[in-house]
Amino acid sequence: MSTNPVIEVVDVTRTFQLGDVEVHALRGVSLRIERGEFVAVMGASGSGKSTLMNVLGCLDQPTSGAYRLEGVDISAADEPALAHVRSRRIGFVFQSFNLLARTSAAENVALPLFYAGRLSGGDERAREALRALGLAGRENNHPSQLSGGQQQRVAIARALINEPAILLADEPTGNLDSATANEIMNTLRTLNREKGLTIVLVTHESDMAEFADRIVTMRDGLVLSDRQIRPRESTAAGVGFPRTESAAKSEVAVWASLLRMAFLVASRAIARNKLRSALTMLGIFIGVAALITMVAVGQGANQAVIAQIEALGSNLLVVSPGPSTTGGVNAGFGSASTLKVADAEAILLEASAVANVSYLLRGPAQAQYGGKNWNTMVQGISAGFLEIQSWPLVAGRRFNLEDHRDAARVCVLGQTAFRNLFGPHEDPIGATLLLRGVPLQVIGLLSPLGQSGGGRDQDDVIQIPFSTAETKVLGVAAPTQLNVGQAALYPTAPNPFGIQPKLTGLVNQIFVQARGPELVDTALAEVTELLERRHRIAPGAVRDFDLRNLSQVAQAREGSSRVMALLLAAVASISLIVGGIGIMNILLVSVTERTREIGIRMAIGARRTHVLLQFLVEAVLLSGIGGVAGIAVGIALTQLISWLAGWPTLLSPVAIGGGFIFSAAVGIFFGYYPARRASMLNPIEALRYE
Ligand code: ADP
Ligand code: MG
Repeated sequence: MSTNPVIEVVDVTRTFQLGDVEVHALRGVSLRIERGEFVAVMGASGSGKSTLMNVLGCLDQPTSGAYRLEGVDISAADEPALAHVRSRRIGFVFQSFNLLARTSAAENVALPLFYAGRLSGGDERAREALRALGLAGRENNHPSQLSGGQQQRVAIARALINEPAILLADEPTGNLDSATANEIMNTLRTLNREKGLTIVLVTHESDMAEFADRIVTMRDGLVLSDRQIRPRESTAAGVGFPRTESAAKSEVAVWASLLRMAFLVASRAIARNKLRSALTMLGIFIGVAALITMVAVGQGANQAVIAQIEALGSNLLVVSPGPSTTGGVNAGFGSASTLKVADAEAILLEASAVANVSYLLRGPAQAQYGGKNWNTMVQGISAGFLEIQSWPLVAGRRFNLEDHRDAARVCVLGQTAFRNLFGPHEDPIGATLLLRGVPLQVIGLLSPLGQSGGGRDQDDVIQIPFSTAETKVLGVAAPTQLNVGQAALYPTAPNPFGIQPKLTGLVNQIFVQARGPELVDTALAEVTELLERRHRIAPGAVRDFDLRNLSQVAQAREGSSRVMALLLAAVASISLIVGGIGIMNILLVSVTERTREIGIRMAIGARRTHVLLQFLVEAVLLSGIGGVAGIAVGIALTQLISWLAGWPTLLSPVAIGGGFIFSAAVGIFFGYYPARRASMLNPIEALRYE
């Protein structure tokens, strides 16, 4: 045979640096092995046999010298090229079998197919290979469920699954009893004889070496002797294993299958350490849940503020009683201490920038209808109130001028008041309810407005004409609800306290509509000037009224809720970062724990990219599961907050999608370092790791 030898090493050295000491494991080995040979390498322990095998197997690279495998110089090959050789051209069998624990025999055998990008029929081929080695029926057993001899057969099947040109076996029988060892050796010899497989075997037992055709003896990193003990017997000499390159698969398909396998491996690793994985996910979980809840609450508040602005209408100024303490006692809830109907009328008459004015008197009241009781807020509103507030009705009609003039016993219901007094399909229009004992006919139903930013339900209201409120409903105020000044104004109202109401002309709020957006400031100035004059406020003194442009108030509130949302998002991000660091930490531990596994994967053809991918997928899976759980709990929490605290919330799809993407990104970001560390492991050192 004059063709290319399978293996040709020329003057190969390998020197290890152990601290200050240089260990010369190989001092210049030259060897030529032809196709179909069965060579045994013998020698005392420490003579460099394993070092030579590792170089031959492309697990390690020589310090100097040339190595040609099937005519290709690979002493200077880069990592992907070496991985490719390990994957396709070389099968490696180890003394300690090096099967992946918790992985079935068939899966162990099929693994190199995956790394070689041979996607279809892997399982079937693996089972076939196992059957060929006498392991039929053991395909689903894990290594721990197999004897040493069976494990080594699985390892041999794995080494051969990609139809390599050469099988390297480093003391394959070292851990086996002699009967089993003989079986394994017979298996190897059969493979050599019948399939023409080139085999290089390391052993320190001469009776094992007897199975080979040629024995190379080593001592102190050098070849001592090299003798042919019988003529090469392989029938298929020079043929080797057929090089069946499977039809080229598309890159996408190869990567898709690798990704699938990485998912499988990662989910197993996660399932194996359930508690640890759960704790690892916790940070991401809390971060995402917090993020989604906060955005939902923040957006809900914003939405409510916007709804408020729309409901209040633009160009609107609101006059409320100021911080005055009439008679030294602060006005209680529902009291109208300083503002009067006369003020409102004066504003409409005298302020030129003002288009419209309305006012209201309000107070808590119990409503009764058909055996149901409901404590609600009653508002006595002047003509034009609903128009100014741009609050539409869904049924019935508004108060007309006669209602206002005659203090008619009529009312308009807000949605919440309606829901709590009437059945869901009942038509309230025309019904007569009792408000503070006063019978009122329902003439209209307001559209729903929702909750205000402060959490108050704006629909929990019953509106009546101002005149009706003043003379029939709210005028009948309990003395405790009046300040000293007011109590004096109600000397004899016919109520449980026996006090007769007297018309006071007091109002709780005055709403002023400017003639246009550009006139809001002018109206503000005019109304201020007018009220200061009417209330005889000395220049510089504290006013007894409060005048605001409500759309400004609403905008300010919107701004502050945005600041709040940002703040909360920052808290959530910190949690995500902490969670990411947790993932990184656990993965670093995991990489250390699985160093040997990584070595095995590399020895059977995994590229660095594959290892990187595997750990990245694990990180993303960890953070992704945490993220999904966080999304679920975030949504649940949001509903709970709406339900318990009654806050308005708005689940944002952007926040949910963002939470997911962000958590996956955290996984990639924090998983990259440990994954890269795993992928940079030297295969031979990883294999040696205990
Ligand atoms: P054998 O397999 O023949 O028993 P080895 O090839 O494993 O011998 O080792 C040959 C020599 O190289 C020994 O002295 C061993 O201590 C040394 N050696 C092998 N691997 C390393 C390493 N990674 N670092 C340092 N020394 C090593
Ligand atoms: Mg050894």
